[in-house]
Amino acid sequence: MTERTVFDPADPLGLDDLLTDDDRAIRATVREWAADRVLPHVAGWYERGELPGARELARELGALGALGMSLTGYGCAGASAVQYGLACLELEAADSGIRSLVSVQGSLAMYAIHRFGSEEQKRRWLPPMAAGETIGCFGLTEPDHGSDPANMRTAARRDGTDWVLDGRKMWITNGSIAGVAVVWAGTEDGIRGFLVPTDTPGFSAPEIHHKLSLRASVTSELVLDGVRLPADAALPEARGLRGPLSCLSHARYGIVWGAMGAARACFETALDYARTREQFGRPIGGFQLTQAKLADMALELHKGILLAHHLGRRMDAGRIRPEQISFGKLNNVREAIDICRTARTVLGANGISLEYPVMRHATNLESVLTYEGTVEMHQLVLGKALTGIDAFR
Ligand code: FAD
Repeated sequence: MTERTVFDPADPLGLDDLLTDDDRAIRATVREWAADRVLPHVAGWYERGELPGARELARELGALGALGMSLTGYGCAGASAVQYGLACLELEAADSGIRSLVSVQGSLAMYAIHRFGSEEQKRRWLPPMAAGETIGCFGLTEPDHGSDPANMRTAARRDGTDWVLDGRKMWITNGSIAGVAVVWAGTEDGIRGFLVPTDTPGFSAPEIHHKLSLRASVTSELVLDGVRLPADAALPEARGLRGPLSCLSHARYGIVWGAMGAARACFETALDYARTREQFGRPIGGFQLTQAKLADMALELHKGILLAHHLGRRMDAGRIRPEQISFGKLNNVREAIDICRTARTVLGANGISLEYPVMRHATNLESVLTYEGTVEMHQLVLGKALTGIDAFR
């Protein structure tokens, strides 16, 4: 560890001192990849509402070890939770869409298989998913059931030894580019997870267009019309909502870090702009009102990174609680969106242009605020933990 004596505007609390050399090396690798492969193109992708070459990007992310990064075995990198978080931060500093691709692949689809799958399912799916050769998606949300998945309509019924799935899933990241869909469905024994190869007859994944947020990300509907699967398509170890919720906890943890990446990109843009943009004969960064904005943004940015790091250490120690992840997701996404919106004001009219990243990040975070549990759901999780009273219904 190095001792810092100089105030660094990029790291005012000296949080880098909390990292190991390996942590820094992983962070640098992911940052360089994003600078090379995402940043030069993402404004155009966003404007056109597409993520071209998603499969190639996935393979490159696989080669970096970023897919299923904190899982062990089966071709996964076995990185620490802190290292996975740092990768999420660097990816989301480029765009929330690319971080979403990685989160859904690693923390939702691969995690579900790793945690709840049979040995055969793990051997079949995890190595190609870790390499980015097979993309996964995670189908929980339905058109009429989002925050309340316990009431899902998608159903799996037995037919001999086979399973037959019918239903619809909505807002599914990676859906149209996936080779395997982890689909949650109601059965006679409660909610269970199924591994659905996307070339199975009766399965289709039309892409959802006209989004004004997460435009450089593939979002789809999943249609399941009499999808017949063999008995071994069910995840043997997942029973009830506990299955999908534990996957969501893992993904939310990545978001705690990722949101701070979007916030950092906006803060850096605003700081740079404030130093150089002149009005009334001086840089706008010389006005007290602008300095107040920058100071407040820096406070929440670095408090958020510190919180993410703390949760990462708890996760690495096996001592994290879902309520603590809710704490981090609720705080960091809410603060990140506030930082991005404030950065937008510092840039004035330029703030609404795609030539700068702030509006793109701010509108992306509208999705991040909603998916993986809305603000209100995490308030209810914390409210219940604080009072002991369940206010969900
Ligand atoms: P609703 O549940 O209908 O909620 C609407 C509003 O009512 C919210 O503000 C909510 O907080 C509030 N509300 C609901 N119940 C209560 C209550 N008891 N008390 C107070 N307020 C309440 N899902 C997946 O399964 N897989 C994915 O890969 C995925 N990717 C997504 C990508 C994008 C871009 C987006 C936008 C969504 C994605 N989702 C995905 C879906 C996401 O998880 C849901 O949108 C989210 O869970 C909220 O559900 P909903 O949109 O149906 O809102």
